[in-house]
Amino acid sequence: VRPRKRIVVKVGSSLLANTERLTLRYAFMNGLLTDIAELQHQGYDVVLTSSGSVALGLNMIGRAPDEAGVLDKQAAAACGQPLLLNAYKQIGLEHGVDIAQVLVTLGDMEERRRFLNIRNTVLRLFDRGIMPIVNENDTVTTEELRVGDNDRLAAKVAQMIQAEHLVILTSIDGLYDRDPSDEGANHVESVDDVSEFLSVTESTSSLGSGGMLTKMQAANMAQNAGCETIIGEGVTERPIQSLLFRERLHTRCTAKGTPASNWAVWMTNRLQVAGSLTLTSETGLTITANTDSIEPTQVAAIQGQFQKGDVLHIYNDSGDEIARGIANFSADEMIVMARHTDQSVSELLGYRANSALVSGENLVFLEDRHLPLEAPRGDLRLVAS
Ligand code: GLU
Repeated sequence: VRPRKRIVVKVGSSLLANTERLTLRYAFMNGLLTDIAELQHQGYDVVLTSSGSVALGLNMIGRAPDEAGVLDKQAAAACGQPLLLNAYKQIGLEHGVDIAQVLVTLGDMEERRRFLNIRNTVLRLFDRGIMPIVNENDTVTTEELRVGDNDRLAAKVAQMIQAEHLVILTSIDGLYDRDPSDEGANHVESVDDVSEFLSVTESTSSLGSGGMLTKMQAANMAQNAGCETIIGEGVTERPIQSLLFRERLHTRCTAKGTPASNWAVWMTNRLQVAGSLTLTSETGLTITANTDSIEPTQVAAIQGQFQKGDVLHIYNDSGDEIARGIANFSADEMIVMARHTDQSVSELLGYRANSALVSGENLVFLEDRHLPLEAPRGDLRLVAS
């Protein structure tokens, strides 16, 4: 058992920036850091995932939120991030909370080596009692290659450090069973199956990029990693503890059982997958265990221009995603191998290698509780053609 508990707190832009003037909301930050100082004394290691860089930088760029384009937002993030961190640093010092900045991109979280580097950095900061403040590095990301919202980024951080709790502070006291402005909307106290709420959660806030939908997706990622998610309003007084200790209204999404290995969690809770293999009908039915590798004869179609080492969706022939696996070959190599199963790898590719397209130990089977991901983009190449 770990002596200290781990908690990831996510705060949204609308709590950190004043909606009209786009300036810092010091009172909220002060309450937040007071609360965090107390949690640290009680034995919690805290990671803060903080939005707000774009909202706080827009004044310097001379754009209103609704007229800012992608480039404006990237420039605004570069302006706002130091403002935000400077405020955390100053206010933190008053409460004895030491902070550090960790800026990440989607690629950093999804490439195994960089993911582990970030994890080790965060754990090293914990050793020193320092609170990492994580945000997406908006200035270097492009639209397709970003997480986009800090809800899911925070869930990725929670899975990365195997946190017990993910607390999402926002402008509303949790999830409602329909648009909360509708008369008769009911507050939902506890969520077990996130997929029940995906269709009712589509609206987003004016300042941030997330909404209840990304919060539900984040909750699913967290629950699959054995972490519970608490969604509540970002009040000034004890915003985190009052939720953690159930003192006011919020929504709690349960953690699912014991998490699989950290590696399996990393494989299954992804935002991006490079390509896919569709299995033959026979294989789709019989492959069940992580000990089976996927051979060239077992594949009916290959999609995307992936490289060796990329993570792939594995579909059965009815199009259901049944597993994730790591490619042993590039897509171009795999299609040659699958179309010429009578020839050896060295004859086809000019080097010797085991013929498994995905090795059994690099295959993780999905369970019902995993929300499906969008299919990857890219040409679909059929083996039999
Ligand atoms: N990274 C963005 C920012 O700092 C926030 C993304 C979000 O709204 O979730 O402004």
